[in-house]
Amino acid sequence: MTTELHGVAAAPGLVVAPVKWLAAAPVTSAGDPRGDDLDAEIARADAALETVSGRYATMAERAEGAAADILTMTAALAADPALREEVHAGIRAGEPTAHAVTGAVAHFAGQLAALGGLMAERVTDLHDVGQRVVAEILGVDPPGIPDGTVPFVLAAADLAPADTATLNPQRVVGLLTVAGGPTSHTAILAKALGIPAVVACPRAVEVAEDTEVLLDGTTGLVEVAPDPARRATVSALRDRRARAATGPGRTADGYSIPLLANVGNATDARLAVEFGAEGVGLLRTEFLFLDRQSAPTIAEQTAHYREILEVLGERPVTVRTLDAGSDKPLPFLHLPAEPNPALGIRGIRLREVDEGTLYEQLAAIASARAATGTPVKVMAPMVATVEEARRFAAAARGAGLSECGIMIEVPAAAARAEYLGAEVDFFSVGTNDLSQYLFGADRMSSALAALHDPWQPALAATIAAVVAGARADAVPVGVCGEAASHPEFACVLAGLGVTTLSMAPRSLPAVRAALAAVTLDACRAAAVAVLTEPTAADAARAARAELGPVQ
Ligand code: PEP
Ligand code: MG
Repeated sequence: MTTELHGVAAAPGLVVAPVKWLAAAPVTSAGDPRGDDLDAEIARADAALETVSGRYATMAERAEGAAADILTMTAALAADPALREEVHAGIRAGEPTAHAVTGAVAHFAGQLAALGGLMAERVTDLHDVGQRVVAEILGVDPPGIPDGTVPFVLAAADLAPADTATLNPQRVVGLLTVAGGPTSHTAILAKALGIPAVVACPRAVEVAEDTEVLLDGTTGLVEVAPDPARRATVSALRDRRARAATGPGRTADGYSIPLLANVGNATDARLAVEFGAEGVGLLRTEFLFLDRQSAPTIAEQTAHYREILEVLGERPVTVRTLDAGSDKPLPFLHLPAEPNPALGIRGIRLREVDEGTLYEQLAAIASARAATGTPVKVMAPMVATVEEARRFAAAARGAGLSECGIMIEVPAAAARAEYLGAEVDFFSVGTNDLSQYLFGADRMSSALAALHDPWQPALAATIAAVVAGARADAVPVGVCGEAASHPEFACVLAGLGVTTLSMAPRSLPAVRAALAAVTLDACRAAAVAVLTEPTAADAARAARAELGPVQ
């Protein structure tokens, strides 16, 4: 009999396959045998830390985009002198070498967890470092992806970047985790690889090895031992998606919704072209500067943007100016520590403490546009007031960038869309931060994942208010947050009056197929349904009833 489990939808798509669990990590104890020569033991631990850090660095070289960035950061965690010192202290205190590593990792994991936010997200990465170092010291295989002759759904308590970054999407066709949130690394990497994922599913522990599951990364539903009729539906839907793999975004009755990509570098840009993006709706520029200790020069920035624009050619690109701070700290800016970084100096607010960076960035964007001829728009993140929008527009236009817009990701901006629309040429709704500030729920918190569910009717109501406010000045409203990559919710966004959708390149085919399966009237009916239902679950059910199967 089929059992239904519910988790949080983290990467769209439907798959039917057997489950295989991630191999268990080696366990250490204070009673393990210990070596007598402390210097030799310390050298053994150092060698293991170095080897593991080197392996992450090699994995980073082989990976692309977000995966490469995350692996590079994890390599740095493994090479952290503070971790090494803590391991040495444990060995000198008489602990067995591998157990000293476990202890040091637990010590720093506790500190990271206490810091919360983005730091707490690194706990899984740090545990992965620890398990690999322990395996190296003990001379056993590191925890990892099991072998399988048939494609399988990889299940785990949680997944570290090193588990997912290099996995082969031909072999691992879905991800299922007990922990994690919709914006966790598992979700980001699953989207980048185009694998459906369900996270934060506590009852996943009940699924035995090799049991077949139907995993729906769009709704968060996992059916254990699905019946044959359900399996047939999945293959019909997959065929339809394959047929809609290319072409512009439009509904079944021909209403155009350009489908754009979110990119951070030239590799992403190439993927965007490969997956048929009609342009770039969000070029995140902060990733270019994440590891910098000093400010990049205008010439360096120009070269970065040029490289990306050249890949896009004539496709329009919306460049977002620096969204430093909060979950994207940039060391070279030397921003003071803040008790609540998500509520502090971030995005356009950086201008209050550092005006030069924005002007230099705008100059570099204008030069890259001049050098490539790619149509370029610019937009500012975290705008909350008319004054901020006005000053940004003046700075952008002063730099020769005539088409400028703002992200709508703070409720204050949504409430004043009518007035903001008089200042700029377009809006782009950042649903990740808009949900964070609308619900007062940290976007990194897996415990609060339900508040980041795009079906929360308050999110749709806020977007509807933005669309209504934008009408006064005929300002187009796009969406570039994660919600745009949800195939069914993308149809709802079209129904709300959103004119473009921007998402991770690999999410494009599923959204394209969903739009192609519905009329604009059905999208509008689904939007009304979401706006008039009391809860997220009711809204999802009512919208699905209007849309029919779209995936
Ligand atoms: C958002 O907030 O929805 C968004 C697209 O921006 P970021 O995820 O980079 O904050
Ligand atoms: Mg944002």
